[in-house]
Amino acid sequence: MTTHSSLGVSPTSTRTRAVVLGASMAGLLAARVLSDHFDEVVLLERDALPEGPLPRKGTPHAVHPHGLLARGLQVLETLFPGFTRSMQARGGLVGDMTGDVAFDANRERFAACHGGLQALVASRLAIEAELRGRVLGRPNVRAIMRVAVLAPSHAGGRVVAARWRAGPDGAEHELAADLVVDCSGRGSQAPRWLREWGYDGPTEDRVEIGISYTSAYFKRTGGLTLGAGIQKVGTFGAVTNAQPRPGVLLAQEPDAQGTPRWVTAVGGFRGDQPEATLEGLRAHARSIGAAELQKVTHEGELLGEVMRYHMPHSQRRRYERLRRLPRGFLVMGDAITSFNPIYGQGMTVAACEALALQAELTRGGRDVEPRRYFRAASRVIDIPWQVAVGGDLSIDRVPGQRPLPVRIVNAYIGRLYRVAPSAPVVSLAFQRVVHMLDQPAALFAPRVLWQVLANRRPQPIASAQERVASARQSLT
Ligand SMILES: Cc1cc2nc3c(=O)[nH]c(=O)nc-3n(C[C@H](O)[C@H](O)[C@H](O)COP(=O)(O)OP(=O)(O)OC[C@H]3O[C@@H](n4cnc5c(N)ncnc54)[C@H](O)[C@@H]3O)c2cc1C
Repeated sequence: MTTHSSLGVSPTSTRTRAVVLGASMAGLLAARVLSDHFDEVVLLERDALPEGPLPRKGTPHAVHPHGLLARGLQVLETLFPGFTRSMQARGGLVGDMTGDVAFDANRERFAACHGGLQALVASRLAIEAELRGRVLGRPNVRAIMRVAVLAPSHAGGRVVAARWRAGPDGAEHELAADLVVDCSGRGSQAPRWLREWGYDGPTEDRVEIGISYTSAYFKRTGGLTLGAGIQKVGTFGAVTNAQPRPGVLLAQEPDAQGTPRWVTAVGGFRGDQPEATLEGLRAHARSIGAAELQKVTHEGELLGEVMRYHMPHSQRRRYERLRRLPRGFLVMGDAITSFNPIYGQGMTVAACEALALQAELTRGGRDVEPRRYFRAASRVIDIPWQVAVGGDLSIDRVPGQRPLPVRIVNAYIGRLYRVAPSAPVVSLAFQRVVHMLDQPAALFAPRVLWQVLANRRPQPIASAQERVASARQSLT
């Protein structure tokens, strides 16, 4: 075994070190926060990390559309001042989520308004590349790449070192650490490691969503103006039993050749799987009925291949319920909770967990009390998990218990969807909850509640065919 001394670190060193397992979104966010509190931060990553916004094997999901919620943009701007500007310089677009982005439910469009809900529309690859450049540019952060992480070393009730295999001979290496943070994603082995060290593993909540995505990039020739001449940077839709297929269209920064792009994805729950072909993508887009999605997928120039992703279940590991945990070991990001991606929550939740870790480090110092951290992370996760699971359980083909409160809330949301096309106040209140700026209780505030319960008839909405015709004229 190679020890820390062979990595150029003296075994008697008194320098403090944190090791982060995985250098994707959560790993980079954790490293950013840890670098303020430890002399050295080391990221361990299986892939060779690219210089720019390029795909890599360890994150196959990163090429599919990723929306960064308004709350996520706020947190990234806090942790990385100037982040928004840098993303705009890369060609990313910042838009008002109730004005520049269209949202449909049951094939009807929510009322547009300029509610000041700013969010970023850019590829996940570009967001990660920006963060990677900034984090690895910090003088006390480095990455060790092309490694396979092994169970960290545990002794006397704490994790004391990170371990990994690397090189053509698969040699084992060990690096002493004051804190190890597991950010290795959905396939994290932390539950197994805990059991091997003599602790209980976390229980896991699951929803069998069986969600499939078919995604593709298209050439973006100019903007997309709809309705009152508003420049749209994307369209999203709610899933309901009447229209249970997720569909998204997002403007993306130009590719390496300078070509501006759209990215689209269509999907389905539990066997309603779009074919991973252009025709499969188009067929699903037609059935979803969003005019712009249909227009781009049918008439746009395809760039690259049509791609597929499948997620059998969303999962939440309940570390906060464990009575005993080792010190010096934390978990973050998808390694704790892997959400149904259609709600666009994962990156924002990871960012908020990084803030929770920062608060714990500031409050109690480097030897973070693990139960306090996991409880704080769980408070971050609670609402987005509730929103996602509630949404999933509104779809009949998703199995699972539907307790009375879930049925009541889903019935209320169903009414809200009918009212929001003609009620900007309701539309904005809904998007502020989706974007994690307000708690769901805001949907029951008097001025929203009375409009939803009064269930005013929506304005007549153009048919799908009329909207496609209008999109045809306005897509320049
Ligand atoms: C199809 C899809 C669409 C999504 N859309 C959105 C969206 O619109 N908005 C949003 O906010 N979120 C979205 N998400 C979720 C988002 O991608 C994740 O929540 C986010 O990337 C945080 O991931 P992570 O860093 O925790 O894990 P990951 O991104 O999975 O990264 C784990 C890292 O650990 C490395 N690793 C794993 N095992 C080892 C090992 N043994 N040794 C060394 N390295 C290892 C991997 O190579 C990888 O770099 C989507 C997810 C999917 C699947």
